[in-house]
Amino acid sequence: MEIACLDLEGVLVPEIWIAFAEATGIESLRATTRDIPDYDVLMKQRLRILDEHNLTLSDIQKVIATLKPLDGAIEFVDWLRERFQVVILSDTFYEFSQPLMRQLGFPTLLCHRLITDESDRVVDYQLRQKDPKRQSVIALKSLYYRIIAAGDSYNDTTMLSEAHAGILFHAPYNVIREFPQFPAVHTFDALKQEFIKASNRKLTL
Ligand SMILES: [Mg+2]
Repeated sequence: MEIACLDLEGVLVPEIWIAFAEATGIESLRATTRDIPDYDVLMKQRLRILDEHNLTLSDIQKVIATLKPLDGAIEFVDWLRERFQVVILSDTFYEFSQPLMRQLGFPTLLCHRLITDESDRVVDYQLRQKDPKRQSVIALKSLYYRIIAAGDSYNDTTMLSEAHAGILFHAPYNVIREFPQFPAVHTFDALKQEFIKASNRKLTL
């Protein structure tokens, strides 16, 4: 039995914080872990900025609801779910991902959660666990599943290494160069082919 583990942002949907920064014009929300490597520092900064602009969780969700999955992503997820059990492993938050997950037909998603107060202000966040993508693959392997994983960035590489097969999708050049052990593809058609190749069953397109 095989499970396909997919990253969410950059693979199936746009980068949520960057899309939100563009939609609101709040430039300082564009910062990512590439600018501020400490995720806790980065998240605290984001929450402070939300607070300064009096943005509540529902304000943010309204903007996210206008976002669409990447071209071809819905069809790809449908294709994958006919051939594999699919689990999305993401560093996003359930409260952000909801509108996009609805468009993807709500596949299983393991991610983090935001904490709001009675006035719907985002006051904190709760990470599910350390190195959550890799830990999820370890857990699924303990159930004797064979894991094929795909992701686009540094926060996916421990998941890709832990999986029986790892695939880079939409990855930037520096990630591809640093992790030459993973095949790197850039279209959903090529990604389907990689899943077929990585599977130990005889699958067709
Ligand atoms: Mg990503």
